[in-house]
Amino acid sequence: TEPLLKVEGLKKYFPIKSGVLGQVKNHVKAVDDVSFVVHEGETLGIVGESGCGKSTTGRMLMRLLEPTDGKVFFDGKELTDLSNQEMRKMRRDIQMVFQDPYASLNPRHTIEKILMEPLNVHEIGDPKERKKKVHEFLEIVGLSSYHAKRYPHQFSGGQRQRIGIARALMTNPKLIIADEPVSALDVSIQAQVLNLMQDLQKELKLTYIFIAHDLGVVRHISDRVGVMYLGQMAELADSESLYEKPLHPYTQALLSAVPVPDPDFTREQVVIKGDVPSPANPPSGCRFHTRCPFKMDICETTVPKFAEVEKGHSVACHLYKESRPQ
Ligand code: SF4
Ligand code: MG
Repeated sequence: TEPLLKVEGLKKYFPIKSGVLGQVKNHVKAVDDVSFVVHEGETLGIVGESGCGKSTTGRMLMRLLEPTDGKVFFDGKELTDLSNQEMRKMRRDIQMVFQDPYASLNPRHTIEKILMEPLNVHEIGDPKERKKKVHEFLEIVGLSSYHAKRYPHQFSGGQRQRIGIARALMTNPKLIIADEPVSALDVSIQAQVLNLMQDLQKELKLTYIFIAHDLGVVRHISDRVGVMYLGQMAELADSESLYEKPLHPYTQALLSAVPVPDPDFTREQVVIKGDVPSPANPPSGCRFHTRCPFKMDICETTVPKFAEVEKGHSVACHLYKESRPQ
């Protein structure tokens, strides 16, 4: 079966302007040739340090940001071809949950009004039905209808994220793009929100893209995980292979920093040096070569191909012959 979402060669270059005339001096290559698919009903985790392009990727999928290049196919349609009006309609099926629910909830509106808005925008139901649906979804996310008349500031961080999730669900979307939905929450609350999202996925047959900066957070919720570095996909695999047998040195390093739950299981420690280079001036060849403990000569000159090394396990690294030029 066709994947629900297919992303091909997605790029976002932001111009860097300078001088009084504002000439374009260079580009920040925030996302640089990223491809992946998402199957119906699954969760794809996308992980990477800040500035790796994961949020930019998420926003381009909804065309909240226009891609510089590349194609996005959703449910058989090419989103990059749709007019703005057609895209607005399409957003009924793709919704986003944000890191900071407080910033995305209008402080002067009641929860009822906030949750009603997507129904008004997409002209779903009559006023009575809309109200009923708001109350129903408050219950679904673990709040109550008596919360409907309250304002965002009257809720805790975890409750606000439940409201953010309810708002994303109002239009019965197929795909939810959650951009660090639990990063701003206390660890104890994180688990509750993650459990809620998993329950909702089963109940409502949702497909998720779950963006995080930490491999630990997405481990249990993701069927597959992609690791991004400096605007590119370094590795993508099903969760089990990725966590137990990471192939890319960057993934190995990220996992070295995650505590291992099983004490009998030891992982080779890979330590990376230095900071992430600027995406305006990414290193030649493999973008990770300035920090990689396994760097070879070819790594400085040649971009490794993102290639399938084992079934369902793709990686961009010259340590694997599939990534090397023929
Ligand atoms: Fe390291 Fe080379 Fe692999 Fe890049 S291609 S991750 S520098 S070994
Ligand atoms: Mg981000």
